[in-house]
Amino acid sequence: MARKKTVLVLGGSRGIGAAIVRRFTADGAAVTFTYVASAEAADALARETGAIAVQTDSADRDAVIARVRQSGPLDVLVVNAGIVVFGDPLTHDPDDVDRLFQVNIHAPFHAAVEAARNMPDGGRIIVIGSANGDRMPLPGMAAYALSKSAMQGLARGLARDLGPRGITVNVVQPGPIETDLSPPEGALKDLIHSFMSIKRYGRPEEVAALVAWLAGPEASFVSGAMHTIDGAFAA
Ligand code: NDP
Repeated sequence: MARKKTVLVLGGSRGIGAAIVRRFTADGAAVTFTYVASAEAADALARETGAIAVQTDSADRDAVIARVRQSGPLDVLVVNAGIVVFGDPLTHDPDDVDRLFQVNIHAPFHAAVEAARNMPDGGRIIVIGSANGDRMPLPGMAAYALSKSAMQGLARGLARDLGPRGITVNVVQPGPIETDLSPPEGALKDLIHSFMSIKRYGRPEEVAALVAWLAGPEASFVSGAMHTIDGAFAA
């Protein structure tokens, strides 16, 4: 019997991350995922899928590095955990902004580098960025947009470092997707739809399908690239 793929999903308890956990476990992988606050949702998902849930705060650099080390060697690392700080940047608490940078920028870098140490040739590093890395049509989200643009540089640079080992590094850039972070019936629904040509929020499973393809054998020549899935939000 073929060895199971070992997968770590940082931020897997809810939303897009949970769909990624479901997809990889359904495809037969041995999956570990992290969460920070939603112990109940994490336990339920672990029971449902057979994945292992572990509490690890992505804002804690050393904890993230230790988690990646303990979960490895990894065939696939998916960095999904991400947070938003929304509102007038002149009134932001700088600590909130720094936490966003820790979770959305520092953790992906340190997790990817740590995973690469022991990753077998042909491994996959996939980061969930955002269509806001390319287009930010709303005020109040500069810190978030900055953090998601940063994933583009991460993927381009690390793809150069790891390509000789056949390890690919890619960013999946979702547009509006139905999750707690982005409720499809929220106050911004009509405005968000006006930016799109396919006027609906995407489903987490649609993002998970793209992640699964990037993790699979057909995508071994795809690296250092951004993969936007957004109903033409950023077009
Ligand atoms: P949710 O808020 O629905 O879920 C976020 C997930 O990340 C949860 O599992 C959460 O864990 C985990 N997480 C958050 N902070 C931390 C942390 N400090 N440490 C560990 N885990 C953490 O978000 P989405 O599913 O909507 O978003 C997932 C990713 O997709 C993010 O990177 C987001 O920026 C990106 N994205 C989302 C879009 C959307 O429209 N939904 C659009 C574009 C990009 P817990 O349950 O414990 O809080």
